[in-house]
Amino acid sequence: MKTPFVTKEQIDTICSQYPTPFHLYDEKGIRENAKKLKQAFSWNKGFKEFFAVKATPNPTILKILKEEGCGTDCSSYTELLMSDKCGFAGTDIMFSSNDTPAEEFKLAAKLGATINLDDITHIDFLKEAAGIPKRISCRFNPGGKFAIANTIMDNPGDAKYGMTRPQMTEAYKKLLELGAEEFGMHAFLASNTVTNDYYPTLAKILFETAVELKNETGAHITFINLSGGVGIPYTPDKEPNDILAIGEGVRKAYEEVLVPAGMGDVAIYTELGRFMLAPYGHLVTKAIHEKHTHKEYIGVDACAVNLMRPAMYGAYHHITVMGKENEPCDHTYDVTGSLCENNDKFAIDRKLPKIDIGDILVIHDAGAHGFSMGYNYNGKLKSAEILLREDGSTKLIRRAETPEDYFATINDFWDVEL
Ligand SMILES: *Cc1c(COP(=O)(O)O)cnc(C)c1O
Repeated sequence: MKTPFVTKEQIDTICSQYPTPFHLYDEKGIRENAKKLKQAFSWNKGFKEFFAVKATPNPTILKILKEEGCGTDCSSYTELLMSDKCGFAGTDIMFSSNDTPAEEFKLAAKLGATINLDDITHIDFLKEAAGIPKRISCRFNPGGKFAIANTIMDNPGDAKYGMTRPQMTEAYKKLLELGAEEFGMHAFLASNTVTNDYYPTLAKILFETAVELKNETGAHITFINLSGGVGIPYTPDKEPNDILAIGEGVRKAYEEVLVPAGMGDVAIYTELGRFMLAPYGHLVTKAIHEKHTHKEYIGVDACAVNLMRPAMYGAYHHITVMGKENEPCDHTYDVTGSLCENNDKFAIDRKLPKIDIGDILVIHDAGAHGFSMGYNYNGKLKSAEILLREDGSTKLIRRAETPEDYFATINDFWDVEL
């Protein structure tokens, strides 16, 4: 059972103030969840969550997370700029990018962000672009398949990210020669895991590797970054992860591996995006058409540019028809947007209560990798983002795009002669 974080009455009031579609974020939920994560890792003195900006790149959201003690994880120039403008100190910014342009390394270095190198060849590239900083991190990819108790979770051997095990040793040695003094280690081996075992399993691999690297190279390892990948249950039949159990599992691995190796001062970092924000965002949209042909269709005023995951991955996003929560789901619909693409469907063959034109639909778990994945196909404009505050009031935290925004990049060219 998935319940929206707003009531029918609240959503009606909000919809009378702001035209649909829009993304709505739940400040209370975001803060409570961030506090719980912090509590789960409170056993580790240096613990810090670096929120993956790409999941929800909105300054108001970043500032809320900053107040809860988070830093940011960036992977591009504009994400670095946004973090800086939101007041994050360089030490509170992680730069975990790949295929990185020189300008981005330059900006990261200028801000004093911690650079996490994706590849061994990036050592020379960074040296050339911005110099080798004292504090540096390397991203590890052990290859093969990543399994938890014989269940394959993901396929790191096919992933473009990170360095091989021998490259990690070589990279640390080279960075030491070039003057680096403080080392970090990072890996992201499975995405959207709905199990309490992902972080503890990953942590054990990273901790063991860190001990080896320390022994092989003498590098001073000060932090281990478990990155993202802790997931959320998109379907109502799944149980959410228990972050307290996850923190406890990582603590066990820490005490088993790092403490006996004399590395009991290593800080644990996370770079969660989805877990921090996805459940606390709704895409709010209105039914504007019904169509009865070979199937039953409900056309809404949002489309894949507002939430791309269903079109891109065939991802399930739960839908609540506001005010009809207790009515029987005795209709089977495709819920579609208006793009000229047949994959622009928020739901396919979904059992829902009878939908009438004008009904408000809440599309759940859109708070991360939702708005931010949006694009402008078919000349569609990106929606507004609204924050539901803890006192129940709302605040516009990004206005909707206008045609002027869409044309802004070509305004100088209307009258150009060929
Ligand atoms: C996307 C990403 C994250 C966040 O991933 P989630 O699945 O949202 O937790 C963290 N770190 C890096 C390097 C990423 O690319």
